[in-house]
Amino acid sequence: MTADPYRVWLSEIMLQQTTVATVKTYYGNFLAKWPEIEKLAAAELDEVLHAWQGLGYYSRARNLHKCAREIVAAHDGRFPADEQCLRKLAGIGPYTAAAIAAIAFGLKATPVDGNIERVTARLHAINDPLPGAKKDIKSFAEAMTPDHRAGDFAQALMDLGATVCKPKHADCPNCPLGAACRAGAGDNPERFPVKAPKKARPTRYGIVFWAERDDGAVLLRRRAEEGLLGGMAEFPSTDWVETPWAEKPPDGFAPIEADWLPMPGTIVHIFTHFRLELGVVRARVEGALGSNLDWCHPDSFDARALPTVMKKVARHVLDTP
Ligand code: SF4
Repeated sequence: MTADPYRVWLSEIMLQQTTVATVKTYYGNFLAKWPEIEKLAAAELDEVLHAWQGLGYYSRARNLHKCAREIVAAHDGRFPADEQCLRKLAGIGPYTAAAIAAIAFGLKATPVDGNIERVTARLHAINDPLPGAKKDIKSFAEAMTPDHRAGDFAQALMDLGATVCKPKHADCPNCPLGAACRAGAGDNPERFPVKAPKKARPTRYGIVFWAERDDGAVLLRRRAEEGLLGGMAEFPSTDWVETPWAEKPPDGFAPIEADWLPMPGTIVHIFTHFRLELGVVRARVEGALGSNLDWCHPDSFDARALPTVMKKVARHVLDTP
């Protein structure tokens, strides 16, 4: 059985780095708002970023929007039924292309997600550690993929990984693959896939400028389109650097001239590759603004594309007496 490519694509993009439980509501909301790809393509990027708020990894939302526009402009609103063509679209990497090809079009393709990776590593008792072993695991998974119903096969392996061959508990006695599994025949199947030791996550430091007007509105800035949290709104801050700033940030970072007073406490947020520690300085200000700055009252923060880290900053400031 095949499925609607638009829905497969949307769910696969949302599920990258995010759990099913979190994605469920977002997926339903997106489909209610944009039931077809043409509608998503016609939406403003800010609207899409706003609907994505809380899912994290915002480059996915930006690429989702870009990809919808590419499909409408270059493919007449239809996803191409070809793995290589799919890979040329914004935000669609090898895994997502294979998932759409197999699940939505029934083509022979092998999407290797975390579940399939684990099941395959255990079936073959692959001793090389991840991430180096990814290539071998993919080859083994490809070799197992049948010519027909590759999508059903992939989803069956994913389900097996999610329910029977779990990361911390492999229920080998009840596994339909038990007879063919090398790790299952041993006494510690959970040791696969073998992982290389983790590198410590570095800490970066920043100082946020909470600039408040007499009417309570707070200064927001739009982040650069490219890079981390691209295009999202934020409270202006210093660069995020590897050594802590002095209590008062150096000249050149404040968005507006004012008497900045440090606030007690810090905000900690964990990104994939680093831990961020933010201090806050605040001031009452008035004055002209640069082009990427604007005022927003805290009552309206929900209507803005503020990433989670900035919501934490807002809570920290607004909850401090
Ligand atoms: Fe996983 Fe055990 Fe099944 Fe092998 S036999 S796939 S280790 S649950």
